[in-house]
Amino acid sequence: MTPLPYLQAYPEATRAQVQALLDQGRVAQWLTDKYPQGHGLRTDRALYDYVQDAKNSFLRGAEPLSKVVFDSKLHVVQNALGTHTTISRVQGSRLKSKHEIRIASLFKDAPPEFLRMIVVHELAHLRERAVSVRPSPS
Ligand SMILES: [Zn+2]
Repeated sequence: MTPLPYLQAYPEATRAQVQALLDQGRVAQWLTDKYPQGHGLRTDRALYDYVQDAKNSFLRGAEPLSKVVFDSKLHVVQNALGTHTTISRVQGSRLKSKHEIRIASLFKDAPPEFLRMIVVHELAHLRERAVSVRPSPS
């Protein structure tokens, strides 16, 4: 696996800084010092409400979300921190879309800023209108 797969888009200097903290085993402490508070959302229901609130604030007109869950396999199996899936099917003469957002469960113990980042990213996919039955890794 590529080192720091989620940070590929960041400048080399930033990645070197993170790598140094990792090598010294200081990442957890550094993050805890910088972001002492967790977001406190523990359940899929709480996550759904949180995402729905964000959607209402920024994307009121977008299609509704069918499902929002923490997923414990995303990070490990799909190498993704979050996914947005649209499943389209014909219902009578209409095309119905179901939108599903999955957030890697490692975000359960993350600071609010981190959860916000991944939720906003996945919500943005509602506007991309990419019709697909496959999740798009983030
Ligand atoms: Zn994405």
